[in-house]
Amino acid sequence: GSDVSVDAGVEVDEEAAEEDLLGGLKIESSADIEVPDRLVDQVIGQDTARDIVKKAAKQRRHVMMIGSPGTGKSMLAKAMSQLLPKEELQDVLVYHNPDDGNEPKVRTVPAGKGEQIVEAHKEEARKRNQMRTFLMWIIIAIVIGYSLLIVQQILLGILAAGVIYLAFRYGSRGNDAMIPNLLVSNADQQTAPFEDATGAHAGALLGDVRHDPFQSGGMETPSHDRVEAGAIHKANKGVLFIDEINTLDIRSQQKLMTAIQEGEFSITGQSERSSGAMVQTEPVPCDFVMVAAGNLDAMENMHPALRSRIKGYGYEVYMDDTIEDNPEMRRKYARFVAQEVEKDGRLPHFTEDAIEELILEAQRRSGRKEHLTLKLRDLGGLVRVAGDIARSEEKDYTERDDVLQAKRRSRSIEQQLADNYIERRKDYELTVSDGDVVGRVNGLAVMGEDSGIVLPVMAEVTPSQGPGEVIATGQLKEMAEEAVQNVSAIIKKFSDEDISEKDVHIQFVQAGEGGVDGDSASITVATAVISALEGMPVTQNIAMTGSLSVRGDVLPVGGVTHKIEAAAKAGLDKVIIPAANEQDVMIEEEYEEMIEIIPVQHISEVLDVALAGETEKDSLVNRLKSITGQALEHEVGR
Ligand code: ADP
Repeated sequence: GSDVSVDAGVEVDEEAAEEDLLGGLKIESSADIEVPDRLVDQVIGQDTARDIVKKAAKQRRHVMMIGSPGTGKSMLAKAMSQLLPKEELQDVLVYHNPDDGNEPKVRTVPAGKGEQIVEAHKEEARKRNQMRTFLMWIIIAIVIGYSLLIVQQILLGILAAGVIYLAFRYGSRGNDAMIPNLLVSNADQQTAPFEDATGAHAGALLGDVRHDPFQSGGMETPSHDRVEAGAIHKANKGVLFIDEINTLDIRSQQKLMTAIQEGEFSITGQSERSSGAMVQTEPVPCDFVMVAAGNLDAMENMHPALRSRIKGYGYEVYMDDTIEDNPEMRRKYARFVAQEVEKDGRLPHFTEDAIEELILEAQRRSGRKEHLTLKLRDLGGLVRVAGDIARSEEKDYTERDDVLQAKRRSRSIEQQLADNYIERRKDYELTVSDGDVVGRVNGLAVMGEDSGIVLPVMAEVTPSQGPGEVIATGQLKEMAEEAVQNVSAIIKKFSDEDISEKDVHIQFVQAGEGGVDGDSASITVATAVISALEGMPVTQNIAMTGSLSVRGDVLPVGGVTHKIEAAAKAGLDKVIIPAANEQDVMIEEEYEEMIEIIPVQHISEVLDVALAGETEKDSLVNRLKSITGQALEHEVGR
């Protein structure tokens, strides 16, 4: 029989696992999958980071996480707070200081006690107030009674109202001063606190004292009542998480460092002109574990002392962007769907097919063979959009179709831009997809991170007055020059035309718009130049991408999947890619039928496929093969 084990509370068919997209999970929908209680057990991949978080929680060490957005940094920080002991939690109270109203006193009590203390004070104040109110009414009654006897009763009435108002203000004022301000309350905390201070301004991070518009005359709010806790204080005995740590201004970073060193930090008004700036509390505890995050260049802009503080007293860890695809991991991704559905709370669970489609997408988004993407925030977004679609149709389950529709809907801005761009190009017929044209080649580029576009290149060769020049337009000039240089070494060897005595004009049709990255177009440029030089037309139903070595080898490039999809969308029939990139191709099913993928290793193969006009081409390609072969030997010989 087949080998059966259990994973995520579900039976696993181990024999089928290798081939199965769900890694052998025997489920009908994500509802069958058990979601672990602890956040740390819900984290997928990131083994190193997870181990470090566990260790750091035990030792109360700081952690620095470096990596791409949406890979689980804040999730791990939150998970860490669940691992810290909650017995130590405290409440913090701020009291009026009778000796110096501008230096409120600070007291800590065990969690939950703070509320009781405030209640007790309020109760006492209420009693005193009742007595006072009673006396006040008697006085008022006397005043009103007296005023009735007098002619200007209305005038006196108004006066009486004023007296009542002031009496009340004063009366309650005296009491407020007695009631402490519950600055930090952990009464209902189930776990150690987790505070996310990403993008927080100084006041929100370090605490603040509100401005008081009535600074004297008995109308003022006592200073201890205007004190507000910062994230560093709320995170006491818990975790303080700050993403994009480098965007925190240097002064705040310095103060943060002091707070980490001292374990306590006085609160003062953050805006200099405000009355709050005169107030400074006694030190307020802020004994937190810091989890700082950012991408690699965030580290460079971070205050070096703060970084070395964290490093010296903690750990640094890199987050992975992808993880190796195996049956166990795919089962975790199925569990991920269940997690996201349960976290949202309103989405219908996913059918087996729908989960499979999502795992396919995770493979595709990794951009690497046999890997899955760990940019799980985005993948979670896809789960939500798909679930929302199913929900809006009042389905019991989210189905494969909903996932497909969601994928179309949740395209990035870049993708939407690229689509727009393709639409407009079609209007202008910028992408030629049939016939043969001399000097014109359909190149491919990537826009943003995940959108391909067809980027036609035109080359023209004219006799030069002086030494030959490469004349390119737009931002892509440098790249074009380099490509021509590479190709000229090859051309020199096989062509009777001396390219160094000619001007080569290169135009990227409509490039430069919307941040097109023209990198990796060198085989395109080379093909266009050779075509122009030899007067041989290029087949227009082909697109190509690839880098070129001086020896004529076609080298791998990035973004092949998106580029191929772009070529298919533009209506082209074939696409040339570097053979070394073959394993990176993960195009969606709908495109597979639309386009033929031709992997190549050498420029001669590119020309063989792309040039039209049989007989001349054959001789050219043959020549090229032999000559670059010699070039190769020559290179090696050197
Ligand atoms: P980051 O802080 O790295 O930008 P987050 O931790 O905020 O990313 O991730 C956002 C959401 O994406 C999480 O709440 C979770 O739902 C999902 N997620 C991200 N990374 C992971 C992971 N490694 N495992 C499980 N879920 C993840």
